[in-house]
Amino acid sequence: MTALATAAHDPPVGFCGMLVSDLNHFLDLSDDVPAPAVRLAQHFGNIVRAATADQCVGVRWTSALPCRRRPGHRPCPGRIAVVRLDPPTPVQWRCCVCADEGVISNWEGSPYDLRRRRLVAVGAVSEVVITDEVATALRELMLLDPDCERLVFGMQAHRDGGAVLVATDEDLEELIGSVAAEANHESNRRRQRRLDVAFDALNTAAQTRW
Ligand SMILES: [Zn+2]
Repeated sequence: MTALATAAHDPPVGFCGMLVSDLNHFLDLSDDVPAPAVRLAQHFGNIVRAATADQCVGVRWTSALPCRRRPGHRPCPGRIAVVRLDPPTPVQWRCCVCADEGVISNWEGSPYDLRRRRLVAVGAVSEVVITDEVATALRELMLLDPDCERLVFGMQAHRDGGAVLVATDEDLEELIGSVAAEANHESNRRRQRRLDVAFDALNTAAQTRW
């Protein structure tokens, strides 16, 4: 059985409630893969992006990624906490509310591995708090460069809901530029509206911070 067929037909292996997933089975899915498998692939990819978005190795932190579960047909309000060690150790993740948890192996070198290839000097950063809707719109951006992707998937859960974007002025400007460019080329009205809202939120934050 090919990896593709495995991803499409077999759920990830569960062990004591923990999902054990091999990222290789969720890459390059073809068009005939059922929607739930595609959503799961996207969820795992986002977890790996969050876990590799900053340099912290061995530090568990709570990302702004929402939990995928819907107990009682309602979205779980939890966020996904992640921790990564050096490869080949799998990325570990866990919902902070419902305790949905798992590990993802073979993340190293995948398109979702956002680790920097070299050390860079980071300028002064500040925090921008955004709503969940804006955070979702940012995660859906298609044309982000790696620096912007690190910003978006490095977003932390805010204690009062929403997400915290930690960025330098330069990073924020670049992200705003990406949102504007994508909004300009978006033909879907609803998506364009979400991008416009995200643009306004980031722009306001950029103009009001010190
Ligand atoms: Zn949950």
